[in-house]
Amino acid sequence: MIEISNLTFDYPGHRALDEVSLTVQTGSVTALVGPNGAGKTTLMRCIAGLETPLSGSIQVGGMDVVEKPREVHRIMGYLSDFFGLYEDLTVAQCLEYAAASQGLPTQEIDTAIALTARRLDLSDRLQQTGGSLSRGLRQRLAIGQAIIHGPKMLLLDEPASGLDPEARASLATLFRQLQANGMTLLVSSHILAELDEYSTHMLSLRNGRVLENRALSGAQSAIASKRLRLSLALAESRLPTWLEQQVPVTLIKAEADFAEFDFQGDLSAQSALLGELVTAGFAVASFAEHKENLQHSYLQSVAVQPKGSQR
Ligand code: ATP
Repeated sequence: MIEISNLTFDYPGHRALDEVSLTVQTGSVTALVGPNGAGKTTLMRCIAGLETPLSGSIQVGGMDVVEKPREVHRIMGYLSDFFGLYEDLTVAQCLEYAAASQGLPTQEIDTAIALTARRLDLSDRLQQTGGSLSRGLRQRLAIGQAIIHGPKMLLLDEPASGLDPEARASLATLFRQLQANGMTLLVSSHILAELDEYSTHMLSLRNGRVLENRALSGAQSAIASKRLRLSLALAESRLPTWLEQQVPVTLIKAEADFAEFDFQGDLSAQSALLGELVTAGFAVASFAEHKENLQHSYLQSVAVQPKGSQR
């Protein structure tokens, strides 16, 4: 969905993005992480066509963002970290204005408002003014404005900042629903535990450079294989060799009483493997999917970069 090559962006006297190259896969939810000042907002603004890079190229849905910003905006929604709402307009009017400015034909606007309000659970708030909404509802309305035209790709810069745990949880549910409907999401946040709940990929930036961009193992993704962990009640030295012979298994770590491996297959294939382990006489004590912890992965990816490389 997004292909960036050798993107460099300078603010006066400061290089914010330095030869950034990356891809974001269609249908993924990518957590954009990195310390303050890493370049996350600048990267999103470049992808959204709001900044002009010094060099490099950004393609969204096969279109060049600099050459065809309007075409790209038709398939993209963007929520900035500091968004504004028209306080005196009602929710319905805010959505109508967003739909009209996205160029939706007049006859489609009412349907788009109703659908978006339903998606964001705002149907009973349509006549309330923007200024009278709680922070969580304001955030929902702003996301509604960003997706009113049914984009394929949604960029969200710190969407959960300032929200209470309940509002954050419902935002996570919304993101999963959007992904299930085929939308690709790029979400930046400092709240890694929350990104963990719905991200399929992690893109980490530091000092304007990409540290890591990869699928998270165990994520709810059709693309990634799942990571499984197995432990035995009785150690058996034949366990690593036995697992190595199983076609869908790629061993990460194997001992006589414990193994961690990537597994290509659906739930029934997973249950078949468990059955074979038991039939082969292994005393299985636990056998479960292990979802990678985003915070742990992020801290590891940051840890491999020497501090001195900071600008
Ligand atoms: P945060 O997590 O704090 O939001 P970020 O990863 O989004 O940070 P950016 O806002 O993209 O980082 O900023 C990247 C770098 O560019 C920072 O060093 C920042 O100080 C600098 N920067 C951002 N905006 C400007 C600007 N308008 N003029 C000059 N420098 C800027």
